[in-house]
Order: sequence, then structure tokens, then C-alpha cells
Amino acid sequence: AAPDSTTTASEGRALPYLDPELSTAHRVHDLLGRMTTAEKIGQMTQAERGSVDADPTRITDLNLGSLLSGGGSTPTPNTPEAWADMVDGYQRHALATRLHIPLLYGVDSVHGHGNLAGATIFPHNIGMGATRDPRLVAEEAHITATETRATGPQWVFAPCVCVARDDRWGRTYESFGEDPALVQRMESAIDGFQGTREKDLTRSDRVLATVKHYAGDGDTTYGTSTTGDYTIDRGTTITSHQRFAAVDLAPYVTAVQVHDVGSVMPSYSSVQWTDVPGSQPVKMSASKELLTDVLKRKIGFEGFLISDWDAVTQLPGDFATQVRTSVNAGMDMFMQPYNAAQFEQTLTAEVAAGRVPMSRIDDAVSRILRAKFQLGLFEHPFTDRSHIGTIGSPAHRAVARRAVAASQVLLKNDHRTLPLKPSQRIYVAGVNADDLGNQAGGWTVTWQGQSGNTAFPGTTLLQGIRQQAKDVTYSADATAPTAGHDVGIVVVGETPYAEGVGDVGTGGHTLNLSATDRANIDRVCSAIRTCVVLDVAGRPQIITDQLPQTDAFVMSWLPGSEGAGVADVLFGKRPFTGKLPVSWPRSEAQEPVNIGDAHYDPLFRYGYGLTTGR
Ligand code: BGC
Repeated sequence: AAPDSTTTASEGRALPYLDPELSTAHRVHDLLGRMTTAEKIGQMTQAERGSVDADPTRITDLNLGSLLSGGGSTPTPNTPEAWADMVDGYQRHALATRLHIPLLYGVDSVHGHGNLAGATIFPHNIGMGATRDPRLVAEEAHITATETRATGPQWVFAPCVCVARDDRWGRTYESFGEDPALVQRMESAIDGFQGTREKDLTRSDRVLATVKHYAGDGDTTYGTSTTGDYTIDRGTTITSHQRFAAVDLAPYVTAVQVHDVGSVMPSYSSVQWTDVPGSQPVKMSASKELLTDVLKRKIGFEGFLISDWDAVTQLPGDFATQVRTSVNAGMDMFMQPYNAAQFEQTLTAEVAAGRVPMSRIDDAVSRILRAKFQLGLFEHPFTDRSHIGTIGSPAHRAVARRAVAASQVLLKNDHRTLPLKPSQRIYVAGVNADDLGNQAGGWTVTWQGQSGNTAFPGTTLLQGIRQQAKDVTYSADATAPTAGHDVGIVVVGETPYAEGVGDVGTGGHTLNLSATDRANIDRVCSAIRTCVVLDVAGRPQIITDQLPQTDAFVMSWLPGSEGAGVADVLFGKRPFTGKLPVSWPRSEAQEPVNIGDAHYDPLFRYGYGLTTGR
């Protein structure tokens, strides 16, 4: 007989699936055989914590397999202990289900445990791509895994292995770069998160990883959004099978076959084939060809597919059609933030009507359960808090600072302007010099990121500069720099965003420098003899007209919490070694511009980056 919620531990241990001595395959098989259809469909359902927080018994009633914290969905107070208490509280409700199946809890730890106030915030992936250092990327991921799992979540929606081919795409900052070979090298991140999946996932410093967004999210053709909301984010990748395999699929082959990644998140974007006559755009979440035939069968992916946030409702047809199409295409778990109950009812009806085969449900649930067994959740469902003391620790932040320094790309350095000397009198201008929120970008405490956000500890670029030079004057707006300065440093760049950017001309998010930034460069570079510009942004900006005004130009990307790493290279404590992970366009209209183009003529080529000595 199956246990009910009052089964004692000793009775429970008699059941094969609760016996850690048995193989994972055996335990999955045993548990699956005991489950009702409702329990199976529950495992395939992921809700946002905000939808159950007021009444967590819903976790039990809906047999929920998973919860997530979407960007900025945090407990109050936003502390490690409160996180762990929150996740453990939800876990108790999952364990109150008939078969006591533990919850899997997922978060977007895309550059550190970004939702947590106090976490170590690393450079976004575009900066990590500039480091060309897979070991550093693995180290970052390991620290992120440690800080994340100590607070409860055992699963991260990272790394993004998108290959960003058009910088107008507003998620370019989440990409390691435009060259699939570079992205593949940086998939060392998966090892940092998971360790050796079969062996290490039970450890309190490891999490299950997700590669996203499968596939072609960074390769959509400008102006092709099928949902109408963005012109490039969530658009359509229009390409041939051959090119798709070389550019967009390549990182997934490595993720699965070399790194044994635990989960894959299909993209909001669509694919349209140029080598198939009459091909129409097909959403990834509906593509049986790409989810099942290619990823699971051909590439050999044995983990599970997690849909993107409510992605299913972007498919054609009514809700039942959307759900049926996506399950039958191969989606295993559905991120249904605020409509979990409706999803379960709908899928239940589809199964009852024979429109979704039970074999597909069993396959999906087996994949999800396998991950839960591998994570050791049946034995240790509650948070091991032993690493809480390391969160945001000097040791972790030292690694982030090193990563920041390694990510800086020196694009121009006339008259050996850099490195600067601590004795020089320095004038610093621009809001991005002194704004932690801006230098961290999206997915930092809030979803879209926030200017002026100080909810996490860190050092701004200005604070870093002040640590290394004695005479530093700062003006956010660059009004009238007076004589008596040896060097002007103008910090330009973007304000934070996470998603939805790609509609050139809206929301101020274009590749062009803002009028304020251009004016700051004009003023400072004409008033002070030596002029350095730092660009704090998630992607290249158009600097063609400004570059001649400068003596030195540094691409700082989105460094995260450790602005002191920028000062380390500016003052020669560390050498400049970063290389461009994307080609730098001359103008917005030149996009897309990528290595391998027939008429490749960017302002700076892929891989460009000057070096300085130590
Ligand atoms: C994003 C994903 C993210 C998910 C959960 C979606 O909007 O596209 O990258 O993992 O939200 O927060």
C-alpha cells in the first residue's frame, strides 16, 4: 500500500523509492508506478512562489513539483535565513503529499544569486566572455551555486548559452559572445554549478543547472517578433538547418554531451527554415522537431525541459491546444507562474481524452524525478545552511573583483595613457561612475534591475578609483571641470534592463550613447588634456564619433558589485587582458555584424583588446 501523509519514517523506508541504496533508475521506476495521474501532472507543474505564499496548502493540494522565485520575488526581509525558512516552509507542504515527493526550487542566479540582497554579484556573461577564462567562469558558477543552495534553491536557470548575433537584442548582456566556440568554452559554468552531476549534486555547494534559451534566442532576425511585443527579443530565427546547427545548437550539444546539464529551457523565440519550402515560424515550445527529435533523440538529452515563464500561452490556439501541443512536442515541466491550477486541469482533461499519451507524461515525470533523486532531496529535503556565512564574503568578492578586472577590454590607449598613476589629479564624471544598480544591470535584487539600487553591498567604480588615487573630484553631470586636473574619466553607458529591450528607439535603450553621455565626453575631453572614457553597458554602444576625442577607451560591461576591479586595471594593479566577445559596430544600422560576415568591417573586430603590462 502507498503511504499517506501520516506514514512514519520507518514504514516509509521500506518502500524502494525511499531507499538511497537503490539505483536512481530503480527508484524512479518504483515511484512512478505508485503515482496517480494527478500526482504525475503535479510534478510537471511549476508555480511562482507569489501564487502560493498566502496559502501554501496549495502546494499540497496541487501536488506541485516545483516553485520558482521570478526576478525580484523575494522573502521579506531579503536575507539568507529568510530565504531558507521560506523554501523549507514550502517544502513541508510538498512533503505533506501522499508520496512525500520533495519540491524543486528554482531561481535565476545568472550572475551570482542576484535575487538575494547581500549576494556576490559577478559581471554579466558578456563580461565573463571577455575574460576568455573558462576556469574563472567555473569558479564564478561554483560560488553562485554555494550562495544559492545555502538559501534553499537547488536549481538555477543559468547559464544562458545564447549566441548573440545582433547587439540590438536586449539580452546580449546575457551572452558569452557571438562565436559559438567561445560560448562552448564558457560552458565550464555548468561544471561550476553541478560539479559532476551524478556524484556531486547532493552537495550543499552544488545546484542543478539550466542552459537557456534553446535555441536561437540570440540569433533572431530584427523585426520578426511573432508576439508583437518586441521587435527582436522573442523574435524569429530565420535560417537553414545547417547554419542553425553550427551557430545556435552547438552550445547545447556540448552542454548535454560534455557537461551533462540537468535541464534545458526552450526559448520564447521561433524558428523558420530557409531550406524548407513554405516553412512558417514555429515557437520553440511547440517544436517537436527541435525539442524531441533533435535535443532528446539526436543530441541525447536525458534531463528535463522547463518551459520559460508562461511560454505556453504564446502558442497558437486555445489553452488546451497550447498545452497539448507543448507536452506532445516534448516539454516536461511548465513554468505556470499564476495559472498552475488551470494548467493541471487542462492537461488532466487532455490526458483523459487521449490527446496526450500517458507514455509522454511518464517520460516527463521520470526525467523530473531523476533530478530530484540525484539532488538527494528525498534524503535531505531541507536546506543545508552551513555555507550561509560565505555569502558575500571577502573571499567570494575577491573572485568577483578578479573577474571584473579580467573582463575589462581596452579599445584605445594612445600615448600610454593607461595605466594611471595614483599621484595624478583625477576628475570623474557621469552617473554610471557611482551607481551600483547601473553597474550590476538586470537580474539584481529586482527583475529589470534598478538605478540607484543599494540593496546589495559593493563598490562603485568611483569608490574603487578613490581607493587608489588621492586627488579625485567627482561630478555626476560633468558641469564645468576646472583646470588643475591631470586626467578626466568620463563614465558613460546604459541604465538597467533585463528583458524586452530590442525595439530601437523605445525606452531609451538604443545602441547610441545618450545625449548626456555625449555632452559629458565633449565637456571633459575638451577641458582636460588627458581623457579616458569607460563604458558601463551590456553591449557595445555607438562611439564612432566620440572615439577621436578620447585618449583611452575602456569597455567595462556590467561589472556587478565589485567596481574596484575596474580601478585595478586602470591603475595597473592588474593588466588589461580582456578581448571583445562580440564585434563592435560602427553604427546601429550596421547590425548585425559578426565574424565570418562576407563584408566584415566593424569598428573593432571580434577578439580585439589591447594589453597593458603589470
Ligand atoms: C526569462 C527566463 C527566466 C524566467 C524566470 C523569463 O522571463 O526569459 O530567462 O529564467 O523568466 O524568471
